[in-house]
Amino acid sequence: MRTSRRMLKDVRRAAFVAFMFSAFINVLMLSTPLYTLQIFDTVVPLGSIETLVIITLIAAAAIVALALLEIARDLILLRASVWLDHELGRHILQNRLKLGAQAQDIRDDARALEQFHAFLASPAASIVLDAPFVPLFLLALFALNPVIGSVALAAAGLLAVAAVMQTLLTSRLQKESARAHERSEKWWRTVASNGQLAGAFGLVNGVSAQWEHYNRSHVGAAYSQGKRSSIIKSFARSVRIGSQIALYGFGAWLVVDNAMAPGALVASAILLGRALAPLEGLVGSVKSIRNVMAAYGRLKSLPEDADVPALSDGGGALRGDISLHDITYYYPTRKTPALRVPSLDLQPGQSLGIVGPNGSGKSTLAALLAGAMGPTTGSASLDGLPITKWQRGDCEAPVGYFADEPLLLDGTVHENIARFGDLSLLSVARAAMRAGVHETLQALQAGYDTPVGHAGSLLSLRERRAVAFARAVSGNPRIVVLDEPEIGLDGASMKRLMRVLENLKSEGVGLVIATQDPKLLSLVDKIVVLAGGTVQSMSNAADFVRTTAPLKIVEAAAEASIEAQRGSYAGS
Ligand code: ADP
Repeated sequence: MRTSRRMLKDVRRAAFVAFMFSAFINVLMLSTPLYTLQIFDTVVPLGSIETLVIITLIAAAAIVALALLEIARDLILLRASVWLDHELGRHILQNRLKLGAQAQDIRDDARALEQFHAFLASPAASIVLDAPFVPLFLLALFALNPVIGSVALAAAGLLAVAAVMQTLLTSRLQKESARAHERSEKWWRTVASNGQLAGAFGLVNGVSAQWEHYNRSHVGAAYSQGKRSSIIKSFARSVRIGSQIALYGFGAWLVVDNAMAPGALVASAILLGRALAPLEGLVGSVKSIRNVMAAYGRLKSLPEDADVPALSDGGGALRGDISLHDITYYYPTRKTPALRVPSLDLQPGQSLGIVGPNGSGKSTLAALLAGAMGPTTGSASLDGLPITKWQRGDCEAPVGYFADEPLLLDGTVHENIARFGDLSLLSVARAAMRAGVHETLQALQAGYDTPVGHAGSLLSLRERRAVAFARAVSGNPRIVVLDEPEIGLDGASMKRLMRVLENLKSEGVGLVIATQDPKLLSLVDKIVVLAGGTVQSMSNAADFVRTTAPLKIVEAAAEASIEAQRGSYAGS
């Protein structure tokens, strides 16, 4: 069974217990009208103070029991809400990352969880749990007097109609407004996180005009929805107040006619209040109930638990055999493949150079070999299992990845190198030394404790790349994939990088280097040349360097790419 479904089942069980508590709470609610009846029908006519004391004590005990039951019910729901938030939140994040989900899916899951767990601990949850007991109070009203019962039933019917109208008349507008709000909110966040840059690029007017455009549709839909909601809510309020007046009017008439005792009139006023409160509450909570139902539906259909390998289960160390077979990769937004590779094999410890002009697919191939993404068709495996599974598994990632974009998460330098895991300062510094960046990182204001900020915004590009490189080699990876590691390096830094890569190679680490710099090709055993997303040639590095002057490699590949494009234009 899916972990998420099991958790939701536990929450449903808690909600059922809360519902049982609601049953007792609602029965105990009858104590006040019963007390009033006794006062008017027994205590006053008989003048019995003794009866008054006894029924007052019983009523007080009922009130205490009621309070305790309400606290217990609220705590059950609160605990379920907090537990779900914590446990399911962790599960969703972990599982979605293991499955390589799109950012939008993760955000939508997080929002669904937020809405659902917030609802559990909100007054709206109690309203929903109390609603099924409305008939109990209506029956009590009919028992007191059929005319009074009919007034209450009519009022309850009108409130139910108001709740349905609220659903029908506002659901489309609510969806529109929420969608538009999300778009304007996203734009606001994007611009805010790049505020200074937006100013420097001359985006000030365009950016605010765009926000106004996004927000206008949100404001329009939100206003129409709010207007309708407000009218229906006032209608519901008028029904409640009107029914109270009708009840007192009919009640007084019945009392005058001696068809009902005064005590019954007071008791029925209390019962009417209890009967209508959850229904009026429902009219006001339709929006949040609808949201929470959609959120619950999303949580119920969360994907299966990812099936990832654990090294300990395999009972042996990873060999490090990489094999690509009949690969194509399509970026989700593109109709043509960014990469096609018929086959590519790397023995443990073997190194690969990927060359080709810009846009030829080097980064795409590097990302596939690093398991950052899975191929659209074909297989990319490490020791027979998809590389993505190894990378997202519970064991230490066997492939270190230094992407062209040094993606860092908000935390310290230490936390980023340790991949937010439990790694000592010594191990982190050792990884930085292995990557040849210890001096750079140590010289930061707070050394390894320096915060990197959102996406590394508190560091320079050079420092960000240093952290990302240390992260790629930390944790003893079997293979390290480097995407254009030469970018931004001066002569001395380049020499240091060569030394670092030679050391890694001598330790038996397999290197995959996507590069425009022929110097780095002296470190690899095999070279694949890409152009226009296809493999132009694949050969041993020694043969390749013998047949192609190293400095000509990139130019040759670029020419091949231009030729390929010419061919495709001519053909189209
Ligand atoms: P290289 O690293 O050789 O410059 P890439 O692997 O970055 O080449 O790109 C290969 C092709 O994939 C290019 O046509 C590029 O436009 C496209 N591409 C790269 N990244 C994305 C992306 N995130 N979304 C859509 N297309 C992309």
